[in-house]
Amino acid sequence: MDNEEVIALEGSIGKWESIAYGNGRDAGRDNCPCCKLADRRAYEDVCEDDFAYGDGCRKCPIGRIANTYDCFKTPYDDFCTHVRHCEYCEKIGIYCSEARGIAEAEIAFLKRILELVVKESA
Ligand SMILES: [Zn+2]
Repeated sequence: MDNEEVIALEGSIGKWESIAYGNGRDAGRDNCPCCKLADRRAYEDVCEDDFAYGDGCRKCPIGRIANTYDCFKTPYDDFCTHVRHCEYCEKIGIYCSEARGIAEAEIAFLKRILELVVKESA
């Protein structure tokens, strides 16, 4: 089991729990522990000059297991699309019930990824 990935996924689940049930805000990569872990790992692998922002998706447990990039076609993608088009979420700056529902789907999605990370090396 990759403990760093487990810790990062647990952190991301916490982020989404605070968005679904509290006052948490999504700041994309800036407050995603999985992005941070993956970017650090990508950075360690390549020389500084070659490092491109976003390269980390290849080292992210979500990107690897869901076989995606920038969380494309995950509930996070739905969340971003919703927030961009929702008057309430975008203009008032508080997530509406629909956004919170998508956040709950993201939590369930991340928990499945976490289970698979734990199983990978069990
Ligand atoms: Zn909304």
